[in-house]
Amino acid sequence: MNSNQILSYDREHVWHPYASMRNPSAVYEVTGARGVRISLEGYGEVIEGMSSWWAVAYGYNNPAINAAIEGQMRKFSHVMFGGLTHEPAVRLAKRLVDMTPSRLQKVFFCDSGSVSVEVAMKMALQYWRARGVSNKNKFATIRGGYHGDTWNAMSVCDPVNGMHTIFSGALAVHYFADRPKCKFGQPFDASDFDSMGDILERFGSEIAAVILEPVVQGAGGMYFYHPDYLRMLRSACDKHGILLIFDEIATGFGRAGMTFACQYAQVEPDIMCLGKALTGGYMSFAATLASDAVADTISDGGVGLFMHGPTFMANPLACAAANAALDCFESFDVPARTRRIGEILADKLGPLAGLPTVADVRALGAIGVVEMKEPVDCALVQRLLLKHGLWLRPFGRLIYTMPEFVISDEDLLCLCSAMVAAVEEISK
Ligand SMILES: *Cc1c(COP(=O)(O)O)cnc(C)c1O
Repeated sequence: MNSNQILSYDREHVWHPYASMRNPSAVYEVTGARGVRISLEGYGEVIEGMSSWWAVAYGYNNPAINAAIEGQMRKFSHVMFGGLTHEPAVRLAKRLVDMTPSRLQKVFFCDSGSVSVEVAMKMALQYWRARGVSNKNKFATIRGGYHGDTWNAMSVCDPVNGMHTIFSGALAVHYFADRPKCKFGQPFDASDFDSMGDILERFGSEIAAVILEPVVQGAGGMYFYHPDYLRMLRSACDKHGILLIFDEIATGFGRAGMTFACQYAQVEPDIMCLGKALTGGYMSFAATLASDAVADTISDGGVGLFMHGPTFMANPLACAAANAALDCFESFDVPARTRRIGEILADKLGPLAGLPTVADVRALGAIGVVEMKEPVDCALVQRLLLKHGLWLRPFGRLIYTMPEFVISDEDLLCLCSAMVAAVEEISK
């Protein structure tokens, strides 16, 4: 197929994320990718500033991850995980247990971030059923969150920006506390917790778990809130007998400037979801980690089994990719590097805050956000950025970047100047 045929068949028959088949927005054909760059048909090599939705942390075509997958492929690419096990999975499990908060001791491998959220929510429900508590069937979360697009994950996404209106009447109804107002890096005011505190106080007997993204809310608005909120949340959950689930799918493995964002608060969850950068962005894969207390309770009461088991559970190729990605993670001080990336982003994008069209500029770790006052024309901004050699995918009022952790200072400066130029152009 030539490029025109690819684009025209794509337009007629292939659904893209959150897209119309009647009037699809422009897509660009990728013909290659290496390091922090992708090759786009008709545009040549451009810097890819999204890490492909937070995932490709160590760059495209990473030689070490390629070699690990090739090596595993020659041994075996897949075996079922029911009644069988393998070294790549066990080694990966050990590494995850060792690097995550000490409370998390058990690992459940699954297919994607959304599925790991489903698994986490099922674990919380089975935990209470195993204890003979039948009325804890609800979840609480904060507004502005994003946990994925599958059924129950969707039910705890932001009720306004998420898909609640489309699916209202069909989705489970949970409790939504106000989004924490105190921002990361600013003073904390304990009244920030009132909304959540009130929900847990009044409805705690119905709530199985609180689920949220620690410190960084990603796809729900790229918002950074104060870690002290999580400390208050942990103690309120303990007080009211509620499990705490941290969704670190986007923030895990150094993205926010700590190995895990919950380390800013030094708070441990009972259940944690990991995905995205877990395989260095090579393939869809995720893990849900649980405490001994959660796992033992599920195993001791009720049916005594955790009732989930995907066909491709612990896929050996994905485990091999993840082990190689963890080797990359360990080969340099990722959190120090992402904190430094954040300083550069803040420094170079910061002046945009002076434009009358810009509402806010913020950066934390390898996440840089320019929040406009009005929704942006995504297609237009993409064209402007491409002229400056950068690929991004803005949404809503946000023009943001999540660069690969391996980006050089030089490329990062190019990325920043492209963003600055595009924002200035749409601000004229
Ligand atoms: C991307 C994301 C998910 C969903 O992961 P998928 O792999 O897309 O299913 C869940 N939670 C958070 C915080 C995410 O950023």
